[in-house]
Amino acid sequence: MEKRVKELHPCFGHGKNKGRIHLPVCPGCNIECNFCDRKINTSENRPGVTSAILTPTEALDALKRALEICPDITVAGIAGPGDTLASNNAIKTFHLIKEKYPGLLKCMSTNGLLLKERADELIELGIDTLTVTVNAVDPKIQAKVISGIFYNGKRYEGEEAARILIENQLEGIRKVSAAGITVKVNTVLIMEINRNHIKDIAKAVREAGAKLYNIIPLIPQHKLKDCVEPECIDIDGARREAEEYIEVFRHCQRCRADAVGIPGQKDYGDQIYLKRINHK
Ligand code: SF4
Ligand code: SF4
Repeated sequence: MEKRVKELHPCFGHGKNKGRIHLPVCPGCNIECNFCDRKINTSENRPGVTSAILTPTEALDALKRALEICPDITVAGIAGPGDTLASNNAIKTFHLIKEKYPGLLKCMSTNGLLLKERADELIELGIDTLTVTVNAVDPKIQAKVISGIFYNGKRYEGEEAARILIENQLEGIRKVSAAGITVKVNTVLIMEINRNHIKDIAKAVREAGAKLYNIIPLIPQHKLKDCVEPECIDIDGARREAEEYIEVFRHCQRCRADAVGIPGQKDYGDQIYLKRINHK
């Protein structure tokens, strides 16, 4: 892992007391996760788990204000609330940030559906860290996690959708990792679906070049509302299995798409984003 990432990133490295801002510039998503409590379509512009949706220029203003309030911010992240590659908003925002604040680390999260085809844009842009959510590497299992995907103007379902998603995720991880971008993989642990598949995921993403692995317990909601919520012992067991293959990240805070500040400490999101709403 690059020294700068190790020192400055509160999630990937040892950036203790370093902060991050999540800029909610990506409202739409191109896949349908069965646990996601958002209505999925490509036309609606509305917040999911965020208090505001910003344009790239508004995001730059929010970043300026956030740096004034919390100078410990070292990472500008974009994590939704939808998918960061489903539109050009994230890439546009990062270009603005790169120009104005070249010292900040640029961090992005994606479901990876478009990672294979957009990897070159991220490499050229100089993203420092990328998180890809991979919930299965077997289409039979992935088909239980998603209801469908929107890809190249068409909707796919079932194992066909799952196969496309997995292929694009793994090939995308290979491309960006080979270019030196630090990749972390998130997996939502769903006891009934992927608990016995964690080893396979950890192994496959490590082979593709990912450096870190993060297991996030399912919040039972939407179509998976009747699934059990994993307990600490379940998460621990899954982490131990994954650890045989890849370094495991253990302090995930399940941040909102508009989190601002040092993870686990005071969140300044209200001050940054409400100000924007009040100005309208
Ligand atoms: Fe929701 Fe994220 Fe899944 Fe899209 S990729 S459906 S935003 S959980
Ligand atoms: Fe990046 Fe995720 Fe950490 Fe946000 S929470 S800074 S997107 S790794």
